[in-house]
Formats: sequence, C-alpha cells, structure tokens
Amino acid sequence: MGKLTMDKLVALCKNRGIIFPGSEIYGGFANTWDFGPVGVELKNNVKRAWWKRFVQEDNSCFGLDAAILMNPKVWEASGHVQSFGDPKMDCKNCKTRHRADTIIENFSKGTVSAEGMTNEQMEEYIAIHDIKCPVCGKRDWTPIRKFNPMFTTSRGTLEEDADKVYLRPETCQGEYVNFLNVQRTMRAKVPFAIAQIGKSFRNEITPGNFLFRTVEFEQMELQMFCKEESSMDIYNKYKEKALQFVKDLNVKEENLRFHDHDKLAHYAKAACDIQYNFPIGWQELNGIHHRSTWDLSRHQEFSGKNMSYTDPITNEKYIPNVIEYSIGADRLTLLLLCEAYEEQELEDGETRVVMHFHPAIAPYKVAVMPLIKKTHGEKAQEVLNILNKEFMTQYDESGSIGKRYRRQDEIGTPYCVTIDDDTLNNNTVTVRDRDTMEQIVLKIDELVEYIKEKVKFN
Ligand code: ATP
Repeated sequence: MGKLTMDKLVALCKNRGIIFPGSEIYGGFANTWDFGPVGVELKNNVKRAWWKRFVQEDNSCFGLDAAILMNPKVWEASGHVQSFGDPKMDCKNCKTRHRADTIIENFSKGTVSAEGMTNEQMEEYIAIHDIKCPVCGKRDWTPIRKFNPMFTTSRGTLEEDADKVYLRPETCQGEYVNFLNVQRTMRAKVPFAIAQIGKSFRNEITPGNFLFRTVEFEQMELQMFCKEESSMDIYNKYKEKALQFVKDLNVKEENLRFHDHDKLAHYAKAACDIQYNFPIGWQELNGIHHRSTWDLSRHQEFSGKNMSYTDPITNEKYIPNVIEYSIGADRLTLLLLCEAYEEQELEDGETRVVMHFHPAIAPYKVAVMPLIKKTHGEKAQEVLNILNKEFMTQYDESGSIGKRYRRQDEIGTPYCVTIDDDTLNNNTVTVRDRDTMEQIVLKIDELVEYIKEKVKFN
C-alpha cells in the first residue's frame, strides 16, 4: 500500500488535530509547530513513558526541572559562547554543518591557515579547490556566515543597560549545576543520574523536515555520574536500555540501528547515536555520550566551586565521569507517527489509514459511540462519564459507525465502545480492537479494568 511521505504525515496531522503549522493565520513561522488537542496527548504520553522507564523505575535516577534562563557564565563553561562567530556553512545536500576554516585546513593538510581570511576569501578558496562535503561528497554549500547557535534575550528594565541572557540550547547544564544539590539532598551515592524533560532552543540554520529539526524542541535526557572504572559498562548499558525503550514502544528492530561515532570531541571517550529509518532516510533519534569529567571540571573552573564527590566509605574525593543519554521528545513523537502509519486495503475494497500506536502512547485510549444517537445517546453519556474519569476518551455520535471507526483509526484510538440495544437491556457493550478490527462483548463494569490492563507501559 501507499508509502509514507513526510507530506502525507503533515497533512494527516493537520486534518486530525495532531499538529498544526505554527502561527498559521500569519502565513506560518518557519519550523515551528503547534501540537493540537490530539497531538498534545500523544507527546505527553511519550514523555510519561520515558519518565516512567528512566526515572520512576530506576531508584538511582532523580528528576529535575531547571530554569530555562541560566547565569550566562554557564554558557561560557559549556563552550557555547566561545563558539559564537565561528565561520560556518551548511551542506545543502546532506544538511550537515561545518566550520569553513577547518574544512580548508583539513583539505590543505594544515598547509593553509584560514585564520585572517574573510568569508569571501574562504568561499573563493573552497570554490577554486572544489572542496566537497566530507560527509556526502557533494559540493553544494550555503554561503559562510558567522553563526550564533543560541537565541539571546535581555534582562533588565532599560534597553541600554539590559544584560544579555541566552535561551538554553541544551537542558543538561541544569543537571551539572545542580549536581551537588541533588547529591546532598537525596543522599545519592555514585553512580546516580539526574534526569529532566524540558525545552531547548537552537538557532538552527538548516531546520526542517517537520518535527525532525525545529528551532525549539523538548529534550528528555539524563546525566549519569559515575566512577571512571565503571563508566564504559554504564555507557554500554544505556545504549542497550535506550534501544530497548524504543523497541518496547512497538518500533520494529529493522528500522533501528546503532551508529558509533569514530570522530569524538577531544574530551569524549565514546559516543553513539541510535538511528531510525525515517521517510527522509536513516537519521539520529538520540545520542549516548561518554563525556568524561569534562562538564563538572569546566563548572568547577568557571564557578570556583569544588564539584568533587566524596566516597562515603573510602573517603576518596573525585570528579565523576558523565554518561549522557539524550532524546528529543518531538523527534521521538515524529518517529512514532512514522512507525504507526499504515494504509490498509480492507476486504470490502475500502482503504483505511490506521495509526498503530502502542496503546500506552495513543492520544485517546477509547471512543464511545451510540449506535443511534436518539435511542442510545443517554446511555452512551453514562458510559462516557465512567471512562473519562480514567482515560482520555472521545465521544462520537455523528455519521455511520464505519465512518466513526475510520476517524478513530486515523488518530490511533485502540478501542471503540459501541452502545446499542444490548447495552440498554443487559448493560453490555461491544468493544472493537483498532488493529484486528475484532469485536468482543463486555459488561459495562468490566470496561475500565479491561482497558487499563491493555494500555499499560511496562
Ligand atoms: P543533530 O545531530 O540532529 O543536530 P545533536 O547531535 O546536536 O542532533 P544533541 O545535542 O545530542 O543532538 O541532542 C539530543 C537529541 O535532541 C537529539 O538526538 C535529537 O533527538 C534532539 N534534537 C536535537 N536538535 C534538535 C532539533 N533542532 N529539533 C528537534 N530535535 C532535536
């Protein structure tokens, strides 16, 4: 049946209240998206599943919700401020970003230094020597620009004396600056992790592909603080745990793969992405990084505060290593939309679009439908009032039952409950399964337990 394209997905999301283009009535605002009534449920469920797996079910992991605006010195310690103004260009073909001066220096094997060259001179050098993208081998560069990766805003009452502050480009700095607070108040022993879910903002030059790359997005990430000796084991454990999490959300293994990095940041000991086979090709879903003692050491240097941990048994003092696992909530939501989508040809020749979400992340768990509005509407309302105390529940009384089922299939509602004469006479309802389309009969008072069991995420 029809192959999924990003355009099809964008159209479905818009028509079914899942995701709308940002500021649409003003012609939109590039690469911003608004989650509609259905989409907000989906994304909240994704975040809940992640939190349950990585925080609730792991007693060595503690939650945090740090402020978006941080002391600007944080971004000096992280290296973001220092990289302001680097001459950057993007490969339009494979959408990777490169430093123009590094490209020239690598090409010339260090014999040419781009220091002191203007942007125009660098562009000319790259054109004359036909320097291609080291990732995809094409030469399709954007012009070189000084790139500011962080959005800035100002704090202060008067424009003239306002201090520049930054919208955080990553959430993990919240964990680093609170490392000692969490360790002390939770009496945490290394290894332990701090996790949070929150917005990040990046002034991406090449945003696009629907939710894949946006200028504001939510990160779900954790930083595991550990001793060097056990750090590689913990890194490997998180690789497997991160993969298992996506597989448990019913993502097929053949659509997932590890991508180990061979080029590492100077402080990193290992790095790996999990990639997914999106309609735009294999792309990063999440990153797992072994960041050594870099982050805490930098904060110790810039804040002057001792960031070491003291082992309560041996009294040894050391700065822990950090293993980072970070995944975009929006990017995972996009992945789950892609994975769930199916166009099915039915026996009667009709086609249905069905979203096979794992029931735990389905936006609505159940829909209540009176067979005939006039006759069964009142009873259907009673059933609705029982179910919506427990679950996000839709109510649909318009159109043929077939049409109503299709609407629920398109937003991935796992169960449809039909109210008919049997309900009035015996308090039984028909429950239709989204995936198999099979129907079973249940008593009204069995419904809540039945659905609860099915929509668990373990
Ligand atoms: P990419 O290579 O795709 O730019 P990154 O390596 O810069 O990502 P990290 O800084 O490790 O990404 O961020 C962790 C996760 O946050 C990514 O794996 C991705 O899921 C998500 N993410 C990063 N940038 C964006 C963005 N602009 N829009 C949506 N999600 C993003």
